[in-house]
Amino acid sequence: MKATATSATTSTEPVPLLDLARENGPLEAEIAAAFDAVRRSGSFVLGPEVTRLEEALAQYCGTKHAIGCASGSDALLLALMAIDLAPGDEVIVPSFSFFATASCVWRLGAKIVFVDIDPVTFNLDPAQVAAAITPATRAIVPVHLFGQCADMEAINAIAAQHDITVIEDAAQAIGAELGGRRSGSLGDIGCFSFYPTKNLGGMGDGGMLTTSDDALADKLRLLRGHGMRPRYYHQVVGINSRLDSLQAAVLNVKLPHLDDWTRQRGENAVRYAELFAAAGLPADMVLPVDIAAGSAGRHVWNQYTVRVGGGQRDALRAHLRGESIGSEIYYPVPLHRQACFASVATAGGSLSITEQAAEEVLSLPIFPGLELTEQQRVVAAIGDFFASSQTERAA
Ligand SMILES: *Cc1c(COP(=O)(O)O)cnc(C)c1O
Repeated sequence: MKATATSATTSTEPVPLLDLARENGPLEAEIAAAFDAVRRSGSFVLGPEVTRLEEALAQYCGTKHAIGCASGSDALLLALMAIDLAPGDEVIVPSFSFFATASCVWRLGAKIVFVDIDPVTFNLDPAQVAAAITPATRAIVPVHLFGQCADMEAINAIAAQHDITVIEDAAQAIGAELGGRRSGSLGDIGCFSFYPTKNLGGMGDGGMLTTSDDALADKLRLLRGHGMRPRYYHQVVGINSRLDSLQAAVLNVKLPHLDDWTRQRGENAVRYAELFAAAGLPADMVLPVDIAAGSAGRHVWNQYTVRVGGGQRDALRAHLRGESIGSEIYYPVPLHRQACFASVATAGGSLSITEQAAEEVLSLPIFPGLELTEQQRVVAAIGDFFASSQTERAA
């Protein structure tokens, strides 16, 4: 038994940012059996486990089709290939995201148009999306960052007005909901990642595309397998981006537990809010806001990301590291500031909210299985940091 006698403030147990052993541990025997079955089957790429996962995920997301692929990055690339994106075309993406959201546009020779985010949700600001539309705009890629859906109603309305494709980057948001519908079914194509740190993580790389458009689904299937149909006859130039049977087998074991893990993430978020309220929220700190709370929406909390103002974020992170508490900065350098995009991207308006976010964000442990005492320790350590930094400033 731990943490019965020790109070949260005196404990020195490390608190990891993410502990996959707590998630996978209880399923170890089931995962091992699934691995063994694949090993004996001799079917290692695509095959029955992948088909099973595709069917289950389509049902989970509420789409007609789901198409497995090698990663979330490839899902984004395949989605843009499926709409024949070409040089001269423009794609609107947030600059405050993981690299893959924009690199897929670059790889097809099209123009990246970076648009600023909403300061509360960190997601694309629809007003700025509307202002960035040109006759060359072919697609918008809203990212459901940290597990909260972008304002899809507004973005879809803009897209419909200009006949533009909407591709959801739902890599961090499997199971997230808006207006009673799930991510992956809110745009034309949804892109998911099974990278181990995502809410549904495999034991390696993996990805999935979702759509309810029959023609797009067919094209995505063709493109992920070298454009080959039938075997050794190539209709179009695709890529090799298939999902491994072993990954699908692990994910088939894990998917039935996803909603329970998501519920735990949500409970941990509520608990942080309570603990910070009880301890007194530091003046320079802003907690994440679940804008869907109480409505027909769901935040799935892939990350619990606070803002730390007053230029104190990096010092706080160092303090937490000293206390063996895990944290991470998603993302320290906005995409429009990346060296590789210096000459190829344009900004659709100011990116000041993005730049401020990059200086202030800090993600704290929220994974399923995180214990109350661990959250108390995180909150206490943050309280200690601000108490001593105030004393320093007063001195
Ligand atoms: C993880 C992630 C991706 C890429 O997924 P991979 O499977 O790692 O290639 C794309 N976009 C966002 C927002 C992500 O978080």
